[in-house]
Amino acid sequence: MIERDGQTILTGVIHVHTTDSDGTKSHEEVAAVGGELGLDFLLFSDHMTLKSLHEGKERFYGGLLALIGYEHNDRDDCNHYLIFDGDEVYPESMTAAEYVAAAHARGALGILAHPDEIRGREARFRSYPWTDWNVTGFDGLEIWNQMSEWMENLKAYNQIRMVLSPRKFLISPTDRILRTWDDLSRTRRVAGVAGVDAHGFRYRAGLLRLTIFPYKVQFKTLRTHLILPEPFSRDFALAKNQIYTAIRDCRIFVSNYRWGDAAEFRFEIESHGAKAMIGGEVPLDGGTRAVVSLPIPGRIRLIGNGRLLAEETGKERTFPLSSAGVYRVEVYRGRKGWIFSNHIRVTGGN
Ligand SMILES: [Zn+2]
Ligand SMILES: [Zn+2]
Repeated sequence: MIERDGQTILTGVIHVHTTDSDGTKSHEEVAAVGGELGLDFLLFSDHMTLKSLHEGKERFYGGLLALIGYEHNDRDDCNHYLIFDGDEVYPESMTAAEYVAAAHARGALGILAHPDEIRGREARFRSYPWTDWNVTGFDGLEIWNQMSEWMENLKAYNQIRMVLSPRKFLISPTDRILRTWDDLSRTRRVAGVAGVDAHGFRYRAGLLRLTIFPYKVQFKTLRTHLILPEPFSRDFALAKNQIYTAIRDCRIFVSNYRWGDAAEFRFEIESHGAKAMIGGEVPLDGGTRAVVSLPIPGRIRLIGNGRLLAEETGKERTFPLSSAGVYRVEVYRGRKGWIFSNHIRVTGGN
C-alpha cells in the first residue's frame, strides 16, 4: 500500500480459485500466501459457488482484505463472468445476457473473464471465450488474463520451457481486447482489470508432472492496482465498499510485477485549474496535458481513442492534448508489457 498526496494505492490480485472449485488451496492458505507477498486485497471467484462467502470467509486476513465473488458460466461453458458484491449464484440454465442483466439489476459488480481467449493451433485444451457481445450492463472486463495468454502461446516445441518458467512468457494484453475495450470506453466507463485465474493446477508434459503456477508464482505476475482518494479503511464493510467502488469508477491500472513494482506509477490529465486521476474526467482547454511518471524508466505509449498518439522512453513525460476523448497509457520494458492504465476522459472541445 502506498499513500501519497491524500491518495492510497492498493495492490491486489483478481480471479483466484480455491478448493471450493478447481483450485488447490483453501481461502485461508491462499490469503496467507497473498499476505506474505504484501498484497492488500484478493478477489476470489470459484466456479458457480458462494459457499465460503456464506461461511464468513470474506474478511481481513491480517492486512489483506479477501473478497469473495464467483465465476458464472453458461450451459456451453462459455461466457465466463466474474460476479462480485452479490450474495446469490444464478442458475446455470440462464443465458449470458440473462445473468449479466440479473447481476446488474441486483447491484452486483460484473466482469467478463478471459473474454478473447483463443488457443494455439496445437492446443490440447479448449478455450472459454466470451461469445455474446450484444450484452450490456457489465462493469468491466479482464484486459489481461494470465492463463489465457499462457495457453495461447503454448506450443509443442516450447511447452517444457513454458512450464518451467511460466512468468517469462507473459508479453502483454492482446490488441484484440484492447481495441474492444477502447471502443466500449468511448461511450461509457468500462473497468479494465487483470485476472490471474490462479488454480495452482497440475500439468503433464511427457514424463514431466508438476504444479505450474503455484499461487505464489502467479501472485508475482499480473496485479491490479486501485487508487483511493482517501486512506484504506480497517473497517471491513467500508474497505469492501472502497475496493468495489474503485473498480466501478475505473480508478485502476494493471501491471506485470515480473518487470518491476508498478505501485508508484502515476498518470493524470491536467487542464487549467482542474486535474483528473485515472478513471476521472477533465474539460479540454488550451493547456490540457497528460502527465506520466514511473518508478523506473520505461517506454511510455499514450493511447487516445484507441490510437497510438506518442511513444517516448523515460521516467517522467508530459504530453499536450488538443482534442476530447478517452486516453490511457501503456508502459513497456523492452518488448514486455509492464503497466496498462484505465482511461481518463477529456470532455468538450471539437
Ligand atoms: Zn473461466
Ligand atoms: Zn477462472
